Amino acid sequence: MAKLMQAAQLVALGQPLQVREVPRPAVAEEDVLVRPVRCGLNGGDPHLVSGDFRVSPEYLPHLKLPITIGHDPVGVVAEVGPSVEGFRAGDRVFINPNMECGRCVYCRTDGAHICTSKMLRGWVPLTAQPVAQFARYKDGLCAEYAVAHYSSLFKLPDDVSFKSACHLNEIGVAYRALLRARITHGDVVVVTGATGCTGMSVVLLARLFNPRKIIAVARDRRKLAHLQAIDPDLIETVSVLEDNLSQRLTELTDGIGADVLVDFVPRGAEVTVQSMYRLRPGGRVILAGGCTEELSISYRFLMRSSLEISSSRGPCPQDFPLLIDFIRTGQFRSSTIEVREFGLGETNDALRVFSERTGDRPFWVHILPNADLS
Ligand SMILES: [Zn+2]
Repeated sequence: MAKLMQAAQLVALGQPLQVREVPRPAVAEEDVLVRPVRCGLNGGDPHLVSGDFRVSPEYLPHLKLPITIGHDPVGVVAEVGPSVEGFRAGDRVFINPNMECGRCVYCRTDGAHICTSKMLRGWVPLTAQPVAQFARYKDGLCAEYAVAHYSSLFKLPDDVSFKSACHLNEIGVAYRALLRARITHGDVVVVTGATGCTGMSVVLLARLFNPRKIIAVARDRRKLAHLQAIDPDLIETVSVLEDNLSQRLTELTDGIGADVLVDFVPRGAEVTVQSMYRLRPGGRVILAGGCTEELSISYRFLMRSSLEISSSRGPCPQDFPLLIDFIRTGQFRSSTIEVREFGLGETNDALRVFSERTGDRPFWVHILPNADLS
């Protein structure tokens, strides 16, 4: 009889998660059995659970329930399959929740994040015909145990804490967007959605590209103040609720306009559009927030301004060792962001807190499926 474990599972859309006993997954030839220590919640998780799923809704009918949620995990290796190389029980690891095919033209170049066969664990299928071999990894990581293909693991050095490395997937999303932005020394960078789960990572990472100024745009002035306190000489803030966004961006850029807009607005496309109008001629736009609204902007303005508009999606696996090193060396200071911790049995409470985002500080939410290891 299979051993059992606890897992936070979505059994029906629109219903609370069920934290329940399910069979512990079997370890195949190239699998690693991991005990997730922490699993960060991401912006889409509450929408998936509630059924209010706006990103790629066409794939929602392909979602096979039940499914364990959670796709930003760090953990400890408990067991390895017979053909696994380079990992052993006790290793501390980040589990890349993205499964890429490794064979397509994108995976063979620098574009695994846009692999057309990509799957994200604990999430809806991202294609109508998911790769069959990925099916055994469909579950997310908010569980006492999970299997992963050994190629999806990245070792964490002893001096990188689980707490600081949780959210590497989200940090990877931010990093890819910033690479796309091609920030150069002295740029003025506007980050919208700046107090959101990924937006915070964008602000923290953007500092590494030597900009002249980072303008963090979000709703809540109190949360923005905490973000600004991380680097008051570099970070300016604009509250879209209390400030005139256009006027404030004009002031902060001396009337010239910003060089780059890294847009992580989840909703409210007018913030994106207003920010685009405040870019300098030749400025660059990276759309990465997953907003489902239409952009309404003047064709003639875009032409006359000669803006570069691009977009970005997901992290690239080859970035993770570098990002782990950013954390180890303190270049990426994840400790500046508050973390709210919840046990596996409290996952519904965690989703509620994450959605409501109450309080005056920006924060990340971590689920601790194996609290004894955290
Ligand atoms: Zn691929």
